[in-house]
Amino acid sequence: LEHYFIRITEYEHLNAFNEVFFSSAREQAAAVQARMISGRAGRLAGMVIGIKDNICYKGHKVTASSKMLEDFVSPYSSTVVERLLAEDAVIIGRLNCDEFAMGGSNETSFYGPVKNAADHTRVSGGSSGGSAVAVQAGLCLAALGTDTGGSVRQPAAFCGKIGLKPTYGRISRYGVIAYASSFDQVGTITSCVDDAALLLEVLAGADDYDSTVSQVPVGSYLPKPTTGQKRRIAVLRETIESEALDPEIRSAIMRSVDTLKAAGHQVDLVSFDLLDYLVPAYYILTSAEASSNLSRYDGVHYGYRNKEAAGLNELYKRSRAEGFGEEVKKRIMLGTFVLSAGYYDAYYQKAQQVRQMIRKQVDKILSAYDFILSPVSPTPAFKIGENIKDPLVMYMEDIFTVLAPLAGNPAIALPLGNNSEELPLSVQFLAKHFDEEGLLSFSRHFL
Ligand code: GLN
Repeated sequence: LEHYFIRITEYEHLNAFNEVFFSSAREQAAAVQARMISGRAGRLAGMVIGIKDNICYKGHKVTASSKMLEDFVSPYSSTVVERLLAEDAVIIGRLNCDEFAMGGSNETSFYGPVKNAADHTRVSGGSSGGSAVAVQAGLCLAALGTDTGGSVRQPAAFCGKIGLKPTYGRISRYGVIAYASSFDQVGTITSCVDDAALLLEVLAGADDYDSTVSQVPVGSYLPKPTTGQKRRIAVLRETIESEALDPEIRSAIMRSVDTLKAAGHQVDLVSFDLLDYLVPAYYILTSAEASSNLSRYDGVHYGYRNKEAAGLNELYKRSRAEGFGEEVKKRIMLGTFVLSAGYYDAYYQKAQQVRQMIRKQVDKILSAYDFILSPVSPTPAFKIGENIKDPLVMYMEDIFTVLAPLAGNPAIALPLGNNSEELPLSVQFLAKHFDEEGLLSFSRHFL
C-alpha cells in the first residue's frame, strides 16, 4: 500500500485519482494484515484496488467527476464495495472519469482529463479513464469501472490493459451512480485474466438491493485444467472492413486471427448488417434514460445548490445550469426531446425496436459460434483535445463497444501489443449471456 502511495504522488500529473483514501486504506490494510497473521484473511487479501468515482463508499466523497456532487459524501456503500471489503481488498481511492460516465476520453470530467501513461499528450479513453491509467501506471493492482457503452473496455484498450464488462445483471448496480440503467454494468480493469476472474467471482451474484441482478449461479471463473477446447469464432465483417478502422489495428487483429486458426479454432467472417444503427440506437436510449436518472439532481435533495435563487423554479434552473457540464446538459436535452410527446414514437420507441433487432441478430450469431470478435475502438488513443469539439466524431468512437451493452452480452478487451508509435492496440471478444466462464478461459489461452 505504501508503495502505491509513493507511486501515486510520483504520477500525480496523470490526474488519475480524484482522491486517495490514505487513512481508510491504511486502517483496512492493518486489519487485513492482522487477519492474515491469524490465518483468517479473505480471498482478496493484499489486493489494492481503485474505484471509479461513481461508486459509493460509505463515509467517502463520491462525485461522478461532476461539480454537481463536488461535496457529496456517500451515506452508504455500494454492494460492490461491500463485497470487496468483505474479502479483505484494500480500497485505495476514487478514480477520475467522465462526468456522470458520459464520454469516451475522460475530457468531460470536472477535474480535467486523465493522461495516457504511454503518451501524455493522448487521452486515457473513457469514461473509466482514471481506472485504466491507474492500472497502466501501476498506481493500484486493479480497478473497478462502469461500462454503459464501452467505458471499461475502451480505456482498458487505450492503456494496454484487460477490460471486462460482464453480462447485464451479473453484478449489482446498487450504490453505483446511474447513467443509463438498462445498460450500466460494473466491470474490472486488470493486468491479467486471473485477477479479472477472481474479482468477478467476488462481485457477481444476486443482491436484495438490485432486482435486476440475475439469479443465475455465479460460475467458477478461475483457471482449471482444460482440454484445449477448440472454439468457433465469428469475426464481424463490417467491423473489420470498416473504413474508419485504423490499419494497424486491422493488421494486428488479422494476425491474431491467423494464430487462432493455426491453433485449430474455427474463425469465420460473418456479416452484421446492423452496424450503422448501433451508435444512433445507443445514444437515443442512453440519453433518454440519463435525462430521467439525472432529474434527481435538483439542488434540493443533494448536491450543488445555487445560493441566490429567489424561488423554487429558479433554484432548480440555476443549480442544474451551474452544476452540470456541457456534455451532460446536451444529453439531458437530447433525452428529454426523444421522450417528449410527439417524438417518443419516432425516436425512443424506434430505438427500442432497433435494440430488439440487434439482440436477435447477436443471439443468432451466437447460436452458431462461441464468440464474436471485433475491434474495441476504431483508433488507438487519440490526442487530448482532438475530438472534443465534434460530438459526432466522438460518438462514432463507440461504434464497436456499444454492441455488447445494447444486447446485454459480456465482452472483454484484450491487449494486442503496441503500434509503431508505441500506443497499445487491442481486440474484443463478446460471448453468450452469462458465459463469463467460457470468455475468461478463452481469454487466458488467447493471451
Ligand atoms: N463513450 C460512451 C458514452 O459516452 C460510453 C460511456 C460509458 O460506457 N459510460 O456514452
